[in-house]
Amino acid sequence: MRYEPDALKRKSRELEAATPQEILRFVFATYPNVAISTAFGLEGCALIDMAVRLKPDVPVYTIDTDYLFPETLALKDLLVARYHLNLQVIRPLLTVEEQERRYGPNLYESDPDQCCAIRKVEPNRRAIAGLDAWIAGLRRDQSVVRTHTDILERHDHDDGRPYVKVNPLANWTRQDTWAYVLSKGVPYNDLLDRGYKSIGCRPCTRPVAEGENERAGRWAGRGKTECGIHTFSAKKAS
Ligand code: SF4
Repeated sequence: MRYEPDALKRKSRELEAATPQEILRFVFATYPNVAISTAFGLEGCALIDMAVRLKPDVPVYTIDTDYLFPETLALKDLLVARYHLNLQVIRPLLTVEEQERRYGPNLYESDPDQCCAIRKVEPNRRAIAGLDAWIAGLRRDQSVVRTHTDILERHDHDDGRPYVKVNPLANWTRQDTWAYVLSKGVPYNDLLDRGYKSIGCRPCTRPVAEGENERAGRWAGRGKTECGIHTFSAKKAS
């Protein structure tokens, strides 16, 4: 049943009643070659805490776009020290300088989709290339685009091999995530206490006002809501 579409869909529905920890337990027992992706948002911090309690050496990767906030980099170091994280940092193929020579300055303004393709989507493809299962921290209530997130989703690598994307927090709300983080004393990004609710790259992230959607501060005013990592292969088991 590791990749068989109908069985995966049945298992995904069955896991709707499971806790994130039960979902992680199932994934660790079923897919030996697995990793967690994180940009060290609130969800990623919660997932890391849960996962290392079950599998201390679980592989974790993050993409350093070269545009991260210093607070995010400090949090990364704190989490590595606290959990002895088995962390891999993936970088884009182009430095910012090389990108500017090729595409001009501030590509994040002139063509943010291209910038994300270079600095996030391509590195993520490389990061998941050998995996059987990729664990991410998406929640359905984060945005309209994420409403249909399944707990288990079957996708294909570029070479056609299947993998499963796992979203253990799909059912959780932002309040659930905060409750977990605070109750377990999980470190989180200082920017979350300064009006930011979703944190990506510096040039594309602003704080949000009370009542705004939590992702409203990402690419604000640019007609863009996702970097493409979670939408580039939206083919689900069907
Ligand atoms: S979030 Fe902004 S700076 Fe970061 S990769 Fe995308 S467009 Fe570039």
